[in-house]
Formats: sequence, structure tokens, C-alpha cells
Amino acid sequence: CGIVAYIGPRQACPILINGLKLLEYRGYDSAGIALMNGELSVYKRKGKVSELEGFIEGQKQESTVGIGHTRWATHGEPDDINAHPHRSGNGRLVMVHNGIIENYSPLKSALEKEGHIFHSQTDTEVLVHLIEEIQQQGDLPLEEAVRIALGRVVGAYAIVLMDKNDPDKLVAARKASPLVIGVGEDEYFLASDATPLAGHTKRVIYMNDEEIAVVHRNGDLQIKTISNRVQTPFVQELDMK
Ligand code: GLU
Repeated sequence: CGIVAYIGPRQACPILINGLKLLEYRGYDSAGIALMNGELSVYKRKGKVSELEGFIEGQKQESTVGIGHTRWATHGEPDDINAHPHRSGNGRLVMVHNGIIENYSPLKSALEKEGHIFHSQTDTEVLVHLIEEIQQQGDLPLEEAVRIALGRVVGAYAIVLMDKNDPDKLVAARKASPLVIGVGEDEYFLASDATPLAGHTKRVIYMNDEEIAVVHRNGDLQIKTISNRVQTPFVQELDMK
């Protein structure tokens, strides 16, 4: 239901938690974050963001990149396992997702035949495994695996992913579910709406349907379509009411 992500020089964890709180008005049943500091750490909980906050207290939080999610369950009951973020089978990727992958069932059966084991009931876990499978087969950069995977997906999504083997970037994509890029000073935000950007930046890029964005720690930003056309990012000044 709600997405927030960060990459830059600052600590990601407090930015994610505050961002998720600012998205609470959208409604949700679970919340979670993933941080990356050598290892990928995933913390997720059924219930309020304040419960997640209690859960992560005293745990490893050091990270300058991360993704966060508030879930409104569509596939699989609200519980700790179905909460996002979801990991790929090899543990290399982690993803948050808003929306519904309508053809998750045939995709899941095909992946199970390839040996994939699923831990949740979500459509989301199927998509991150599909991306992993495509990435592994072709030894592809994450954004290219995402692009090919989304060509096989029917449904609505806003997604953000991190790759343990390529830790200095975030990859995001959307179709029929909103996603905004916040452009800060040496830092990038991603969010399902501009609310969590308040106090951080007024410069935003509203992603269009079927676009995939890569935001890099070195400041690079690339946007492509699923059909592999390079897009020119259009930065707007946010009018905060
Ligand atoms: N379909 C996904 C799930 O049930 C995402 C739901 C959402 O948008 O929060 O986990």
C-alpha cells in the first residue's frame, strides 16, 4: 500500500520509519523495512509502524540505503511472513510492492518446477523470484532483469528493489500504481506519494506507467520503459500545501 526508499549519505532507517508513519493515512495491516550494510537485513511485522519500531530496537540498523513498505494484504493473510519486503530465493534481492500481480499463479507453478521454494502466500514473492531467475540466467544487471520480468507480468505494481551484489543503487518500476522519485542533494528518495518527502526535498519526478528507474549513490539517474526506450527525466518543483 505504501512505499518509501532512500539512498544517500544519511542513515536510512530513521528516514524509512518516519516516511512509513507519514504514509499511515493510506491504511495498512503490516510494515517492514530492508537495510543493506554488507548483509541484507529484513525487519517486518504485522501491525503498526510503531510495533516495527519496537521490534528493530537494538537490532543492526546501520545503513545508508533501504526500502520500506506498509502492506494492505491482497494475496495472503496479514502476518509477519506475508509482510514486505520479500527476498528472492538466493537471498540476493529484496523487494517491496504495491498492487497486484494478476498472473502470479502460473508464474509461481513455472518457478516451482525450476526449484523455487516460496515462504509466503503473496503475489509479490513470486515476482521477486521471477526477477532473480531472469537475472541469474542471463547474468544481467538488476534493472534489465526487472525490465524482462515486467514484460511477463499482468497487473498493477509499484516496486522498489535492492541487490546485495550491486549495493549502490535502487531499482524502481511502476504500472497503474503511483511512484515518485524525490531528488535531494546527493540523495534520492522513492515513495508511493510525495508525503514522505516533506522536509527532505521539493524536487520530484513522477514516474509514468511502464517506466523503470535506477537511482545511484553517485548521483546517476536513468529511466527506461519496459520496451527499452530511454526516457528523459522531468523534474518538477513540488507545491507543498
Ligand atoms: N499484493 C501484495 C500483497 O498482498 C501487495 C499489497 C499492497 O499493495 O500493499 O502482499
